[in-house]
Amino acid sequence: MRKFEIVKNLVTREREGVEERLYYRFRGDRWYGGIATGDVIGCILSCVFCWSWRFRDNPRLGAFYSPQQAFEKIYEILRRKGFDKVRLSGGEPTISKRHLIDLIKLFDEKNITFILETNGILIGYDESFARELAKYNNLIVRISFKGVSEEEFERLTGAERKFFNYQFKALENLMKSGMTPGRDFYVAAMIGFSRDEDIKIFLKKLNNLDPRLTDVDWEYVFLYPHVEYRLKSLGLKPLRAVKPYEVPREMI
Ligand code: SF4
Repeated sequence: MRKFEIVKNLVTREREGVEERLYYRFRGDRWYGGIATGDVIGCILSCVFCWSWRFRDNPRLGAFYSPQQAFEKIYEILRRKGFDKVRLSGGEPTISKRHLIDLIKLFDEKNITFILETNGILIGYDESFARELAKYNNLIVRISFKGVSEEEFERLTGAERKFFNYQFKALENLMKSGMTPGRDFYVAAMIGFSRDEDIKIFLKKLNNLDPRLTDVDWEYVFLYPHVEYRLKSLGLKPLRAVKPYEVPREMI
């Protein structure tokens, strides 16, 4: 977890008892039927398919926002566009735990759905994280697995394979904290490079935890030009990929 400390120190700071996070933009987006989004900087993984890699690792491109300031930016977009959901994207939101929880709380007070998109590793690592999340009724946690096996995870993220299992641990911690699978949290998985037989084993593992977790949101590689460039430079060719503007309706 040394990388976590390094990245956290780069993208998080404390000002007068408030945890601020680096953001690089705020925007409306088409996913979930329309969602107001804050894009944060910083992640503990380095996924080869990550669409935000140019910003994700570059603290010089962003500015620090307190939870209240980020709330105001995101809320204004939600109001202007007539959306009813919000999220953080671009990097990994859980790195700045206090900031994230304070932001979720602000939207909860307004009765607005917050979708927490996360790789889940820090929720798997820290059981108390799940207990804190479970306090909010308007929160939906989307645990996005990076590949479907330890070996694939290591190859795709550059992180040690043991961290793959922290993603399963995150599911267990959320269940232990009283959150309901399929309602309060669900599984997504990047299968752009996965073999069919590994997907079957992955589904079996989810089924053993709770059959409601097998309703997986499957993710394909989005072939933005900068993602294609990166994959090409690494000599990688995805098995499942879509062009960003040819995404099938059911995936949006
Ligand atoms: S976990 Fe998400 S934000 Fe982090 S590198 Fe992977 S795809 Fe990008």
